[in-house]
Amino acid sequence: MVDYEVDYSEVTGKLVDCPPECGMCCLCQPEVLPEERAFFRENHPESMVKIPGPVPYFALALKKGRGSCVFLENRRCKIYDHRTAYCKQYPYHLYVSDKVKVELNLSCRGAWMGTGKDALLESKVLVDDADRRISAALVEAKDVYKQFFANCREAGVMSDPSMLRMNVSENISMFTDLAYLSRIMDMSAIEPVMNLSTLQPETRVDMESLEEAGRDLAMDSMSSDDPLSVPVYCDPEWNWNMFMAVDGKIEWMVMDDDGELHHKAFADATDIRLRVPDQGAVRVLADYVQILNGRDSFMGSVFALMDQNGYEDDMANAYYGCLAVTVMDLLWRMSMLDHFMGIGCGEDAMREAIIFYDMDRLDAPAIGAFV
Ligand code: SF4
Ligand code: SF4
Repeated sequence: MVDYEVDYSEVTGKLVDCPPECGMCCLCQPEVLPEERAFFRENHPESMVKIPGPVPYFALALKKGRGSCVFLENRRCKIYDHRTAYCKQYPYHLYVSDKVKVELNLSCRGAWMGTGKDALLESKVLVDDADRRISAALVEAKDVYKQFFANCREAGVMSDPSMLRMNVSENISMFTDLAYLSRIMDMSAIEPVMNLSTLQPETRVDMESLEEAGRDLAMDSMSSDDPLSVPVYCDPEWNWNMFMAVDGKIEWMVMDDDGELHHKAFADATDIRLRVPDQGAVRVLADYVQILNGRDSFMGSVFALMDQNGYEDDMANAYYGCLAVTVMDLLWRMSMLDHFMGIGCGEDAMREAIIFYDMDRLDAPAIGAFV
């Protein structure tokens, strides 16, 4: 038996609804756990598919191999009482690093309505149900984290993660201001060890370079012709919008309930101008940066990058730099939504950009695992 405490801070005080028109999470192909397979084998043998890979697993089939789950009908689940553990978990994510944290997927529109079920109570039930998987993952992840910190110390790039978080928390406005974001991105690549308290903003913001930084990241996630791999944005009318980039051109499409894609518009990525968030948008962005700053999966994704880069960057530079780049990705996506749909750059637009973005943020490779 493994003893662990769970950090519920991200879901405490939140309410989560699930409006009948949505169904967006049923586009994320759910894994079928070994103990769940018998039900599907006996009752719906054609509904399970084997997903190849280094560790193959079973998942529910998708309409036309790329749309929503085969059990989704009129945006509701036909087998609700038998849906998989992963279906039940959405929009919560149980992240296991050297500790356990419940994170809330803000791409779920139901998480923004201020109505519905108590997120804390719902998450506690999910954590109880996932105890066996959490315990197993924790044993493995603790070893990985131990090794990671040992590597950081040996390379001389170690910082105290809780201090980094505190520094960001005390300087949130730097991460919502283009003049500081630009400087953070530059300094994280130049300075041996970054210090936010001595950082000065750019005197002249180079909008083109900022635009390019956001565009490169967003284009990276959209560069695929596979609807399963590109970002999905469920809009206020509950349309499933998808954006695919090929040769610098972005195609906006809407997927219907049968898994068919309908073309809406094209745009050259370089025609999309970076929008500057207004004051209302900055407030929403600041709240989101605080959430990211508290997420262990975000920290885990920074660690994964450090590992990938051979421990060349100090942890402070990697953390602040990654947060700044994340904000640029988000701002560029808000700009893209405005370009295609005219959402503007205010409070509502920032909320829509987060709804579009958060699922991809949570999907970033990280040291540790969602169970
Ligand atoms: S994304 Fe959220 S609101 Fe939409 S179906 Fe899933 S849980 Fe419900
Ligand atoms: S089983 Fe039901 S809840 Fe799960 S993905 Fe399929 S339709 Fe959605």
